[in-house]
Amino acid sequence: MSRPASRSPLWGPTLAVLLGLIGGLVLVGIALRNERFAGATGTGLAIRINGVDERMARDVLLPTVGWVLQIALPPDLPIATRESLVVTLRAERTGAMIEIADQLVSHDDFATLVIPESLGLYTGLLSIRATLTDEEDHELVAYRRVRIRSWLGGPPIGSRQIIHFDFTIDRDDDGRPDFERDLERFGLATPERPELARIVAERIAERALARVRRAYDAPDDPNRTGAARDPVFIRFVLEADPGPFVTRICVGGGNIENPDSVGNVRFDLRNQRKSSKECEREATAGLFPAELTIYRESDLYADVLGPFLTARGGATLGTRAADEERLSARGAGSPGDSESANDRRAEIDRAISFVGDVLGTVMAHESAHALGLVPPGRPGVGLFGGGEKDGDAYAHNVDASGERPTEAWLMNAGRSFILEDLAGLGEVGELRFRPLNYAYLKDRIVMIDDRRP
Ligand SMILES: [Zn+2]
Repeated sequence: MSRPASRSPLWGPTLAVLLGLIGGLVLVGIALRNERFAGATGTGLAIRINGVDERMARDVLLPTVGWVLQIALPPDLPIATRESLVVTLRAERTGAMIEIADQLVSHDDFATLVIPESLGLYTGLLSIRATLTDEEDHELVAYRRVRIRSWLGGPPIGSRQIIHFDFTIDRDDDGRPDFERDLERFGLATPERPELARIVAERIAERALARVRRAYDAPDDPNRTGAARDPVFIRFVLEADPGPFVTRICVGGGNIENPDSVGNVRFDLRNQRKSSKECEREATAGLFPAELTIYRESDLYADVLGPFLTARGGATLGTRAADEERLSARGAGSPGDSESANDRRAEIDRAISFVGDVLGTVMAHESAHALGLVPPGRPGVGLFGGGEKDGDAYAHNVDASGERPTEAWLMNAGRSFILEDLAGLGEVGELRFRPLNYAYLKDRIVMIDDRRP
């Protein structure tokens, strides 16, 4: 469009100067307000989505329902100021405004809302504005735009998904689960006492399953919903019938094709298959606990399993006269028992807990591959997972700049972990899903199928 010819030639520069002045005034204004807000300096107000930091969440697409909006408040505000919070959502397409402050749940320095269906969000751009007003009528404002998308064919996880960890696989046809034979590698079973191997196997499987469930029902509230619990709605079981929503992951046997690999479960982008069998006879898919012996040089391994490894002067579980009794009597020893009996019992309990926790961590990681973690690419399409050309980083976490994350997260590349990480004894304790991974598992993020025409 051409400009009116009658316009004064001074108009352009004047406008530029004027805009510059306004810009300067606005900047100064905000700076002053921030400095003085609620009598404190350096305060900040931020809008966060799904507990994911701004850098990683910049381009995420959100469903119409179920994602988590968090207003991070400046710390130590007077109650009256906290209560002044006003949050409005504005649909850019229609201009419709919703005020949601009365629905927010406050916890710590966050005000949170898990977006309910009743809010009736539409697809398109949504502006979020949060305002706090202190007693001197100074305002603190945060603003953010997010994009709401429809599901495009249903959520990737849904609520009917089942992961079946099958510890009974018998690839070598000896009539016994391969996992029971695997335990011999750790000194936790002897071929002479198969009935004891079965007890150890059951106890480890239970312990490992509990670890998996903790990963998917994280006690630290990764998406900061403020709720006491925020579990992923997937059932993890040791027994299940086949079905369209059942993924069966076999646990046990040697990994012939990739020795030194503890787990090999196919990455299922967007959980499209919803059911699969990670149980192939030729042992290319599944979990292979026997390969945990790759950690045998580690101090932790020697410390926990040494008492059962003959090569380290230990005695295989089941070869000592009272092992059976000690195996079935869990927990603290009885006062009447000798010190050595109690020691052996404690060693057995510790070894079972250790192998169960390590295996459970690997099971949590591998099952997440079957559910679609970590999709390669940036949000919108992926969740900062490495691509096929990225070697170990394929289907594993990378950070927003494509580097390996500095923190040990559950979906980092397997080879980046030391045994302590897998046992939950490393720097960060039990490995967990990073918030972006968890948001995906909770169906709080929409991904576009970029292969569609
Ligand atoms: Zn992996």
